[in-house]
Amino acid sequence: EPHIAPLDASKLIVNLSKTLKPLPTTDDVHFGEIKTDHMLVMNYEPTAGWSAPEIKPYGPLSLDPACSCFQYCPNVFEGMKAYVGPDGEPRLFRPHKNMERLARSAERVALPPFDTDALLVLIKRLIAIEARWIPAKPGHSLYIRPTIIGTRPALGVAASDSAMIYVILTPAGLYFKGDAKGIPILAVGHSVRSWPGGTGGHKLGLNYAPGFLPQKIAAKQGYSQVLWLFGDDSRITEAGAMNFFVVVQRDDGDLDVITPPLDGLILPGLTRASCLELLDAHTQGKTVLPNIPASTRLHTHERILTMHDLIAWSAEGKLLEAFCVGTAVVIAPVGRIGFEGKDIVLPTEDTGLGLVGKGLWERVVDIQGGRYPWEDWSV
Ligand code: PMP
Repeated sequence: EPHIAPLDASKLIVNLSKTLKPLPTTDDVHFGEIKTDHMLVMNYEPTAGWSAPEIKPYGPLSLDPACSCFQYCPNVFEGMKAYVGPDGEPRLFRPHKNMERLARSAERVALPPFDTDALLVLIKRLIAIEARWIPAKPGHSLYIRPTIIGTRPALGVAASDSAMIYVILTPAGLYFKGDAKGIPILAVGHSVRSWPGGTGGHKLGLNYAPGFLPQKIAAKQGYSQVLWLFGDDSRITEAGAMNFFVVVQRDDGDLDVITPPLDGLILPGLTRASCLELLDAHTQGKTVLPNIPASTRLHTHERILTMHDLIAWSAEGKLLEAFCVGTAVVIAPVGRIGFEGKDIVLPTEDTGLGLVGKGLWERVVDIQGGRYPWEDWSV
């Protein structure tokens, strides 16, 4: 048996760039276009195992054109962010959760396994080296894109037994400000993002490209995101690359906060999980969300949600808020939802986030920035 080397952070080689790029001077850049000075790279080969990881100047990769990443798409990724805390130190938000999800995604497309703790140690080193790139403004951050690609340099249709992990960084402003107006989204059922037994519950590159055409068509009709439906009952799954929530008025005066269940059709978002935990903590009296009276009880439900539910609640005046959540946007208000030629208009269309969405947005951003300590979420 040959010795297969595990991923070992202590073998890190650091090759710093001789010249550093100027920092962006304006917020007015498209997401992901500006890259920092360095990247983290490591390779897996079938008999050798993981190479010594390297932090080196950002630049092109050199790959055999037959590599499976270009052909069969055994490609997975993560999206996480670094923030500056009040003490000026970089902080990450629940990064172990991203590492666990990355490992699950890699396993789903039969990429070689890696030590998630070692990768996180390496990512922290990269962030420390690139700390000057983390914008200090509240809600701004340095977006982190860990990526694993299959690099088996042969055309046989088979699992890639070699792989590359790389991590690149890009400064990110606010996608939507807390006071932005609600976005219009289009519910689409003719083109399906995920299905039972499919891959929608994993963060695979191959889940995204088929959404680009429906997204383009929706944009032409004036909608900024697609709300992905599934099935004859027009079940809501998620919106764009974000999880979806609605807030519904109850007869007893409390509020129901409803999001689709983790049934394999949606990505198990970290922001989704964090919102659910914060809403429950509010109702249990463990914390009070900003702007929401402690007496307002918020009942969370992870359950099947259909377009017909939304239409009925809207007609009864009970549909108070809809919002999308994810690492990139944090919480984005939905203003209207196009479905079968009509729009469901949310009462908060002009004002943006409602009571629950705004409370969550403020609290999550404060936890991420290290201004509100909560469990072990910000490290
Ligand atoms: N759904 C999809 C399809 C996504 O790509 C993302 C972004 N990772 C999300 C939901 C939100 O997940 P998270 O809160 O972990 O960023």
